[in-house]
Amino acid sequence: MNMEAHNYTSLKEQVWNTLLCSGCSLCATVCPMKTIYFSDEMPVSYNLCKNEKDNVPCGACYSSCPRIDTYKDKYGLGPVLNAYTARSTIPIEKQQSGGAVTAILYNALERKLIDRVVTVGQDHTTMQTYSIALSTPQEMITHAGSKYIWYTPSLLALRDLIEAGITRKIAIIGTPCVMQALRKMMESDNAVLNRFKDHVALLIGVFCTEIFSYDRAMQLFKDASVHPADVKRIDIKKDMLLELYNGDTVTIPLPRDLMRRGCAHCLDFTAVDSDISAGSIGSYEGFTTLITRNRTGEYYLNSAIENGYLETSTLETLDKVETFAQRKYKRNKK
Ligand code: SF4
Ligand code: SF4
Repeated sequence: MNMEAHNYTSLKEQVWNTLLCSGCSLCATVCPMKTIYFSDEMPVSYNLCKNEKDNVPCGACYSSCPRIDTYKDKYGLGPVLNAYTARSTIPIEKQQSGGAVTAILYNALERKLIDRVVTVGQDHTTMQTYSIALSTPQEMITHAGSKYIWYTPSLLALRDLIEAGITRKIAIIGTPCVMQALRKMMESDNAVLNRFKDHVALLIGVFCTEIFSYDRAMQLFKDASVHPADVKRIDIKKDMLLELYNGDTVTIPLPRDLMRRGCAHCLDFTAVDSDISAGSIGSYEGFTTLITRNRTGEYYLNSAIENGYLETSTLETLDKVETFAQRKYKRNKK
C-alpha cells in the first residue's frame, strides 16, 4: 500500500470515526503541519494538511498509526530474550512495584546513553496527566510512579523535542499501543518520519489492561465526594480502590464506559513491540517484572546492573503474565 498517498482523511474515516483509535497520539506528534490535535480525548484536524490541499507527499500520520492493519497481530507474550524480577537500589519516594524502570532510565541519563526520557507527568492537585520530557536523573526520581491510569496524548513532548533539535537519543515510556505506534514508525519507509526515527533510542512498554477517561473518572470522584488531591494511591481491581492521605479507603464501582473506547479493541497486554516491557504482574510486591525483547533492551538493563542501580534475578516463569495477556485477548478479540 502506498502510505504516502493517504492523509488524515483516511485516518478519520478508518480509525477516528470508527472509535478504533487507541489515543497513542503519534499521528498528532509526527504531522509536519501540526494539523492534528486532541479534543475530548480524540484526534481532530485543523484542516491544514498539505497533502490534502496541495498534494505534497506525506502520509506520516497514516504510516505510523497502529490501528491501521497491524494491531490485530499484537498480543500474547511477544518476543522474550530474558525475563527478570527486579528492583531499584535508588530510594524512590513514589515508587511503583520495584522502581526498575526508573532505575534503568536514571542510569541511562547519568551515563549519557540517552539525552531525554519522554513519559507522562501528573499534576498532584488535579491528577491530570500530561506528556513531559525529562533530562536529568533527579527528574526521573521526581516523576517516578506509574500514571498510566488516565488517558493523555503522551507523545506530544516528543514532537517538541524533535522541533527544538537539541536531542540525539530519546527513551520513551508508554502503553502497548504507544509502543506499537513507535515500532511501526521505526519500521516505516516513509521518509517524512526519518526526523523522528533517527532519535528514538529505547522503547519501554508498561503492562496495560485498559486506560480510563480522566473526565469521567473525575465525575465519579466528585459523586463519591473525593477530591483528587486527597488520594494517595489508586488500585484498579474489579472496583477502583482509593487510599486517601487521611487513612480512609474509598471503593468506587467501575462502570464499563470509564474505559477509553479504543481500548476495547486492544489485544496487547505486554507491549510486544517494546525493547523492554515492565509491570508488577508476575513478581512479588516491591519488585518489577522486566521482559527484555532484544539486545537494545538488554544493553540498557545490564548497564543499570553494572552501575549498581538495579538488582535482578531471573524470573522462572511468565505464567502469570501470560494469564493476564490471554485474559485481555479473550475480552477484546472481536
Ligand atoms: S491510534 Fe494513534 S496514530 Fe492512530 S489515529 Fe489514534 S492517536 Fe492517531
Ligand atoms: S488497553 Fe492500553 S495499550 Fe491498549 S489501547 Fe488502551 S491504553 Fe493502549
